[in-house]
Amino acid sequence: MLRVTEIFRSIQGESTHAGRPCAFVRLTGCPMRCVWCDSEYTFVGGEHISIDDVLSQVQSMGCNLVEVTGGKPLAQKEAFALVTRLCDAGFEVLVETGGYQTTEDLDHRAKIILDVKCPASGEEPRNHWPNLERLRADKDEVKFVITDRGDWDYAQEVIARYELQKRAHAVLISPVWGQIDLEELAQWVSSSGLDIRMQLQLHKYIWGPEVRGV
Ligand code: SF4
Repeated sequence: MLRVTEIFRSIQGESTHAGRPCAFVRLTGCPMRCVWCDSEYTFVGGEHISIDDVLSQVQSMGCNLVEVTGGKPLAQKEAFALVTRLCDAGFEVLVETGGYQTTEDLDHRAKIILDVKCPASGEEPRNHWPNLERLRADKDEVKFVITDRGDWDYAQEVIARYELQKRAHAVLISPVWGQIDLEELAQWVSSSGLDIRMQLQLHKYIWGPEVRGV
């Protein structure tokens, strides 16, 4: 059984898949506490649902793309089996995960969107660096959520240290909602000389930052 906060259909709001129809499976629970977390409602509660039932709910949504997210989805051991079942069923599967849990045993067919925690999150010491070495250039993406100049400098240092422009399919630079000047961040990104991508969380611009299940 999995503990599930919500299953819903929307458009993908982030990554190079932004704008695509997508079914989301948001698992409950997270061992981290990023100071700017926008998903605190996933920390507790949730409903126990079998993998079979999750699969049939996802199948009823009619989307080819599925994202398994959280919370911290890989904190539940059964999440690995869910990802394999979704891949077996022919879905294109994205797994959005912070750097804390190892991605080593994740089904190789799934595409990883790896969230590297920057210093202003308060969780930077918990990054699990081998996850960056496992990124695959044909499918995996890496994301830095930026609060301030210190985070931006940190992101550039990690991008260089792990050669992420070569190692990942995309390097995503995402602002913390409402906490950083977007023009300033765009200026940093555009003048960096790096092959990276600034992204905005599309769903928050469409439905607002507080609405769940979108
Ligand atoms: S890892 Fe994600 S869900 Fe967990 S505290 Fe950080 S932002 Fe929130």
